[in-house]
Amino acid sequence: MRVVVTELIWEEGLEVLRQLGETIYDPDLWKSERLPGLISGAEAVIVRNQTRVTRDFLASAPGLKVVGRLGVGLDNIDLAACREAGVTVVFARNANAISVVEYVFAAMLAFSRRLDEATADVKKGNWSRKRFTLSELYGKTLGLVGVGEIGSRLAARARAFGMSLIGYDPYLPPYETACTEFGVAIASLERVLSESDFVSLHVPLNDSTRNLINKDSIALMKPTACLINTARGGIINEADLYEALKSGRLAGAALDVLAKEPPAGSPLLELDNIILTPHIAGLTEEAQVRTSVLVAREVVKVLKGEVSNCIVR
Ligand code: NAD
Repeated sequence: MRVVVTELIWEEGLEVLRQLGETIYDPDLWKSERLPGLISGAEAVIVRNQTRVTRDFLASAPGLKVVGRLGVGLDNIDLAACREAGVTVVFARNANAISVVEYVFAAMLAFSRRLDEATADVKKGNWSRKRFTLSELYGKTLGLVGVGEIGSRLAARARAFGMSLIGYDPYLPPYETACTEFGVAIASLERVLSESDFVSLHVPLNDSTRNLINKDSIALMKPTACLINTARGGIINEADLYEALKSGRLAGAALDVLAKEPPAGSPLLELDNIILTPHIAGLTEEAQVRTSVLVAREVVKVLKGEVSNCIVR
């Protein structure tokens, strides 16, 4: 059996795959001309977020039974085409959620306490205690757009910080733990945007969420608020966000994901009131070992005809 891994996977995951037979691995395969030739004889392909699993891709892989996604965002995989071709898709359910949650805390604390800036100031020989008298997270409102695996884990931890929680998720049943135990008050998007000190996005990128945060939605936000996006570029209209940050209409933003990655030439790069990171919210050593092993094991299960709990429905 041939498994082709087209992007970065941790060794622990490869060890699981090798028990199946031939494992072809090259972290740069997604952009190589060798890809169609290699997948033509593959039963399984494992991807991250660069490989585009399209109809053409599937046509090049007639023996394909399963696609493993080393992560949770599925916007690079044509799920309808996979369904039609009879190809099962498995994903890394929950495997990097905690890493993303901790990133959001890092962003909220960086915005509210500005430790990097204070350090740079002290290194310059200053001792500006008044300038760095900033604000607490305690008592602030965190607005969640999307209250799924990541949003609900974020809520549990934000509660421990004494934050109030409000969330927009039209698909969430009212008896979900996030509401009943972690205190997320479900409300309209307008209320979440207008009442929150931090707005954190945790929705998939699809037709209902593309450009969800634009000039009109930013106009509802408090001017003192901070917008955090660890979900996907494309959910925020970056030109509108740039205008809002530049004019001071919005105090700050932290973006781990951008419409174009890397964002060469983006005006966002010029701003001081923005945190920009290279799509690393889910990238911690622990999460990557978990993700690699989980996806490898679930791919093996599908190929052996066993039950997998990580199949995309
Ligand atoms: P999830 O599927 O568990 O939760 C998503 C939630 O969004 C669901 O509760 C769903 O009902 C809700 N939702 C869907 N459409 C919506 C809409 N139009 N408006 C409001 N809510 C809507 O997913 P998750 O595991 O919490 O991950 C969320 C997203 O985070 C992923 O799709 C992925 O793109 C992104 N992500 C990024 C990183 C990173 O490294 N930056 C890592 C992991 C996940």
